[in-house]
Amino acid sequence: MSQNDNLFKKIMRGEIPSSKVYEDDEILAFRDIAPAAPVHILIVPKAPLDSLDELTDDDAMIAGKLLICASKLAKELGFASNGYRCVINTGKDAGQTVPHLHLHLLAGREFIWPAG
Ligand code: 5GP
Repeated sequence: MSQNDNLFKKIMRGEIPSSKVYEDDEILAFRDIAPAAPVHILIVPKAPLDSLDELTDDDAMIAGKLLICASKLAKELGFASNGYRCVINTGKDAGQTVPHLHLHLLAGREFIWPAG
């Protein structure tokens, strides 16, 4: 699948509707269609990066922005004090299903550790 055709590119272009919670020139954040927790937001860079595995030193800024976006949303949406979990599934064994880098921001319940 080319980068132009992946699901998240279609969401970014508005070809597939999404429940958007944040957008700027570099990042789109929207609610997961099949939430794994009461709050489940996907934070996606607009740059064509297939996974965490593709990042180089040149991507330090966008990598940081994904984390800072998660932290800001946690505060703005009111779950920072209770806690939250950030997950980046990378590759087959981790269960990555959409070939575009994305960070899962999960909150609203307790999470077990180690994760299953
Ligand atoms: P992954 O498994 O690649 O880490 O995460 C992909 C996520 O995308 C899954 O949690 C899945 O529920 C979500 N997802 C799949 N299709 C759609 C969709 O059409 N809209 C939204 N908002 N999320 C989707």
